[in-house]
This record gives sequence, C-alpha cells and structure tokens, in this order.
Amino acid sequence: MIDNMISPPIQTLQGYKNLVVDVLRLDLIHPTITGNKWYKLKFNLLAAQKNNINTILTFGGAYSNHIFATAAAGQFFGCKTIGVIRGEETLPLNPCLRFATNAGMKLVYVDRTSYRNKHTIEFLTALHEKFGEFYVIPEGGANELAVEGVCELAQTLPQDYDAVVCACGTGTTLAGLRKGFSLDTKIIGIPVLKNGEFLYSEINQLLTNELLQKNYTLLTKYAWGGYAKTPTELLQFITNFTLKNSIPLEPIYTGKLFFAVHDLIQQNYFKNHQKILVVHSGGHQLVVNN
Ligand SMILES: *Cc1c(COP(=O)(O)O)cnc(C)c1O
Repeated sequence: MIDNMISPPIQTLQGYKNLVVDVLRLDLIHPTITGNKWYKLKFNLLAAQKNNINTILTFGGAYSNHIFATAAAGQFFGCKTIGVIRGEETLPLNPCLRFATNAGMKLVYVDRTSYRNKHTIEFLTALHEKFGEFYVIPEGGANELAVEGVCELAQTLPQDYDAVVCACGTGTTLAGLRKGFSLDTKIIGIPVLKNGEFLYSEINQLLTNELLQKNYTLLTKYAWGGYAKTPTELLQFITNFTLKNSIPLEPIYTGKLFFAVHDLIQQNYFKNHQKILVVHSGGHQLVVNN
C-alpha cells in the first residue's frame, strides 16, 4: 500500500543469560512513517477513503510524532492533511513542523484554551466552515481504529511471548497489543506521563470488551517526572544502550521503555527462561525533505 514499507524485524538482545529479550523494530518499517504511528493511522486512512473524504484533520503539539506521521502518511496516501497545532506559530518552523508543511500538511495554530475544547462540536463546526469536509483523527491518534491497526500487527507476530512491553502515551498501542496477543501473554505498559494510572480507564475504554481488559499492567514509576523530562541518568543509559546494541532510542518514549526493561530484569521481575518482546515504537523524526 505504501512504498518502502517493510514488516518489522525482530532483533534479539545479547547478554541476557536466562531470558530471551526480543525487540520489535517498528522504527525500521519506513523512512518517515515510522513506529507505532503507522499502525494507528492505517484503518483511519482507509475509513476516510471509504467514505470518500480526502482530507484528514488531527491535533498535536509542535513536536508531535503523531503530527509528523500523519503528514507523511497523508502524502503517501494521496490525501490532504490539516494539523491543528497547540500554541502560537514560531518562526522559523521547527524540524517537525517544517517536515509536515513540506509533506503538504496545512497547519492551523490555536491558543491553549481553544485547544482544550478541540473535540467540541462548536470548534469542529468552525473548522468545517473554513476547510469543508474532513475526517477527524483524535490527538495522539487514540481511537478504536488505531487499536485495530496495532491488533492486526500483533496477530502477525509469534504468539509464544510471556510478556510484551511497550511505552504508553495515550495507551492506544497497549490496547491494540492486548487485543492482538493471546490473553496468556502479559502486556506491560510504561507510561511516559506523570501519574500514569489514569491510563487504565482510557485503555479499558479503548478495549471496549471486558473480556479483553485483562492481564495487562502499567508500571508508572518509569516516567522520570513527566513527558519531556530528560534527566542525566536517563540520557546516560540511552547512550550506553545505543552503543551496545546499535538501536537508536530517544528520551521521551523508547529511552524510558528500555530503561524500565533493563531495570525490571535487574530486579528479577521476569522468571527464568521467559520470552519477552519489547516494542520499539520509533520516535525519531527523520527529516528528509527540508
Ligand atoms: C506516540 C508514541 C508512543 C505512544 O503511543 P500510544 O499509542 O499513544 O500509547 C510511544 N512511542 C513512541 C515513539 C511514540 O511516538
């Protein structure tokens, strides 16, 4: 469907004696539409297409991986994209928004108060008056079709993992993994936002079916104080990890994820001979067209 898209390789980490630690390299599936974002977008783009809507509108901050991926996917898919960006325009555009603009995304800046009301009928009506018809993908791509995309991915993977670990922003990826893997596989989420417990209700809502709201857990102590915090110890871990394994990490999502996995292994959280899959959800914004 999209040129250059490959199915994600699985790489086994070296140096763990009594465990198998595999990494699902979603960061390698495509040069620009990387990581979990493609799976979250896929069925949304198809739904828009099916309804003959050729414009996608979504929301995000000025550095959002979701905005970046939506712009890239829209370009490849041949549909128009509109990004509603929180806050004022700052020039020159940062690399993320420059990439989005070059990929054809129209940017609309809204103040923080309006942004908070972005899912209200009034706000969307005003946008429709300006831009005509569009298909709305919520902030962070968090909806049921996004869950379906990740679920479909999970169903193509080996089913003999004891645990699957992923980073959580909105929890949509975790919900998709829970839905796609057998209920015997424990899904472990590492929230990157402070006080990540709020995600349980969001995830259960995305999972809809009570039978699926099982055998997953959120380990909230690996948020390092919040979304964009980059303590030295975390940065140090990322440098060492990348040197050792040649896997790029960033401090917002995957750095916290792999630190957590490393820490859990140190604390004997996993039983001997268990097989663990760590989902590398991407996060590097490769700016190729500026
Ligand atoms: C967006 C993002 C996530 C969070 O995914 P959710 O489905 O919102 O939980 C995790 N990792 C990376 C690299 C991301 O860009």
